[in-house]
Amino acid sequence: MERLNFVADQLFTPGPTPTPTSVKLAYQMTEVYHRSKEFELVFRNCIDGLKPFFGSERDPVILTCSGTGAMEAAVSNLTNEGDMVGVIECGKFGNRWRKICEAFKCNVKSFEIEMGKGVQWDTLDNFFEKSRDLNVLFLQAHETSTGALIPFEQIAKIAKLKMPNLLVVIDAISCLGAHRVHMRDLGLDCVIAGSQKGFGVAPGLSFIALNDRAWERISGRSRFYFDLKKEAKGQATGRSAYTPAISVVLGLWASLQEIKKIGGVDAFIHHHQRMALAFRAAISEMQLDFFVEETLRSNVLTSVKIPESLDGIKLLEIAKKRYGAIISGGQDELKGKIFRFSHLGFVSEFQLISGISALEFALSDLKWRHEVGTGVKSAMSSLQETRKTIPNV
Ligand SMILES: *Cc1c(COP(=O)(O)O)cnc(C)c1O
Repeated sequence: MERLNFVADQLFTPGPTPTPTSVKLAYQMTEVYHRSKEFELVFRNCIDGLKPFFGSERDPVILTCSGTGAMEAAVSNLTNEGDMVGVIECGKFGNRWRKICEAFKCNVKSFEIEMGKGVQWDTLDNFFEKSRDLNVLFLQAHETSTGALIPFEQIAKIAKLKMPNLLVVIDAISCLGAHRVHMRDLGLDCVIAGSQKGFGVAPGLSFIALNDRAWERISGRSRFYFDLKKEAKGQATGRSAYTPAISVVLGLWASLQEIKKIGGVDAFIHHHQRMALAFRAAISEMQLDFFVEETLRSNVLTSVKIPESLDGIKLLEIAKKRYGAIISGGQDELKGKIFRFSHLGFVSEFQLISGISALEFALSDLKWRHEVGTGVKSAMSSLQETRKTIPNV
């Protein structure tokens, strides 16, 4: 059975995420010249608007590329060939850090965390004890392939105690805006984010912020497109080195205005926290299990184990085809075993509830044992409750 197909499908995916109307309207402005005073002002305003998300002492740099491009920029600008670097791996994106570092001929020492599980602290301590020669440590703040938060703050602290000269680089691509990743307060040297995740803008831009320490440690490698020093110099007055993704920059400016309207970064994080709590309340009520340990569940997305008796691929197919909800599945070895429901970015209460209802319908179509409507009911109760009780973070 196909549904009436007169509205767009709703995204419950951790990038791209739903786009506010004002952002869509901003894309309509065509034939904008990136060397005009007006555009340079918008570009500069975007940098100023992004700064509080990073809590950085220096301006973030905007790059025209997907998030992985900024990861590559971090590696190519902060390492030299042959450097010893550390990578924390607990899923697909941690794995990507390793691959990029290897492509740039670094000596990689990798520490693995079991997917969805917490850190074995004594093993980690051992790892750092044995690798005191690390120049840079690369890790995620949130592993999007599992929905697990990584205790990056503690990891950075422990590593820096042992290696005072270590640079810590955080891939916060999927969680900036949904969790606090404050560079100054948490002593982080470099943080990365992207346009299509928390900011609810089209893919095409990534952001990278370095602190003074990291700027002083820019390596001597040869590089061209991702020359952060060159970019930062021009971007001080709103000029990118090359043609930026102009329409995405215009969208980003609109998105930053939207976030400002609801009260800024902290209010946005607060919103994410409420959405995550409500979704988890629904899942608990629907007799499903979480993939990630309780203390590591994120405000970004919730990954849920697909019961053995259900066909996980079919479940998501039904949610999309019959009900118009696009929910992410598991990747690689988690394919068919989990689904990842994203509440990242501009997901409203109403959208969240409609997404849960789609999930409930699809589960029911596959004869899952929960009583239809119980998920929606508990999510609504949670939203009403947290509207009163969650303090601004
Ligand atoms: C999405 C994502 C990336 C990669 O971003 P692309 O824009 O697809 O290149 C990297 N790290 C994390 C944690 C992500 O969620």
